Amino acid sequence: MTGLALTERVRVIKVTDSRTGQAHRVTEDAAVMGQRPGCYRAVCGELVLAASLTIPERGSCRGCQQWWAAR
Ligand SMILES: [Zn+2]
Repeated sequence: MTGLALTERVRVIKVTDSRTGQAHRVTEDAAVMGQRPGCYRAVCGELVLAASLTIPERGSCRGCQQWWAAR
């Protein structure tokens, strides 16, 4: 091995829900496996419809924040 340690930390992206404007966190795995383009399962369990990048973010999802803080 090269001595490069694999980090345990899951890579997470922020996705803003187009319906609520709330920012959720989606793991990269979930993003790749999205059933439909632009539709992701957030770490809080919500199904998120990705908004266009121009939509203003109206706060972060509580469930996702707690998940993130617990890591
Ligand atoms: Zn969430």
